[in-house]
Amino acid sequence: LPAPDATRLGADLIRPLLPDLALAAHKGKRGDVRVIGGAAGMTGAALLAGRAAALLGAGKVFVCLLDTRAPAVDMQAPELMLRPADALLEAIGDKTCLLVGPGAGLDEASRACLARALASTAPLVLDADALNLLAANDHASTLQAALRQRRAITVLTPHPLEAARLLESTVQAVEMDRLRAARDLAARFACWVVLKGRGTVIASPEQNVWINATGNGLLATAGSGDVLAGSVAALIAATGQASAVLAAVWLHGQAAERYAAKLGPSGMTAAHLPKWMALSWADLM
Ligand code: AMP
Ligand code: MG
Repeated sequence: LPAPDATRLGADLIRPLLPDLALAAHKGKRGDVRVIGGAAGMTGAALLAGRAAALLGAGKVFVCLLDTRAPAVDMQAPELMLRPADALLEAIGDKTCLLVGPGAGLDEASRACLARALASTAPLVLDADALNLLAANDHASTLQAALRQRRAITVLTPHPLEAARLLESTVQAVEMDRLRAARDLAARFACWVVLKGRGTVIASPEQNVWINATGNGLLATAGSGDVLAGSVAALIAATGQASAVLAAVWLHGQAAERYAAKLGPSGMTAAHLPKWMALSWADLM
């Protein structure tokens, strides 16, 4: 049962948080996303996040890949612009949301990208290995200080294990009181936190909390977190509002429910999710 002070996400709360893409005069108005991640063997994570951002309405999506031998184009999503990781801030527009972490790995190149992103004034979403670097790396305290100093919108999207590492706690303790864990992280790092898993909890830096009831076990699959992170980045880029994370979380869960209702309990992978999120968005209109 949600604690009385947690607001439950629903269609009426989400609808006004979504951007009106039909009003976009040109692609520069929609907001851009830059994904930084995809080390060797994990490029798919960054591509999934980039594809999700594009499908949820980002004007332009750059995917800056740490794998130096990565392909030059995503043939399934040629609208993505693939770049080397060190291009993460190159000619960045003022309506760009950065997403660091999907498949990024934990090496020095990944850490350097994270440090540069933390120092930038752009809105920033941190997922996966960006969170692991913040928790475990030799440079963790420097990175954490940079995180706390940010003024722009910053969102962490940990699953329970990533949250436990950041809190120097255990998964058990996090799962025992998910509201508290999300709030603790939001307070500790002065940012928005999306504590994932069944009953995702979102906490704001002001210590407001929301709980999401959408979603099902179809989401318990590789890449679904990457899709969520890309979607969060796209909606923040479009709206300029951190509260857009609420819409991304709700749509992500709703997509899995909509899929299950139409097509049943199997056959969905993370790559299918963005399309179903877009359909769930359409249902709201
Ligand atoms: P990750 O662990 O980073 O791949 O992220 C998994 C995503 O799927 C998160 O957004 C979770 O909240 C979501 N998810 C996984 N399993 C479930 C479930 N049983 N019910 C609802 N959401 C889930
Ligand atoms: Mg993940």
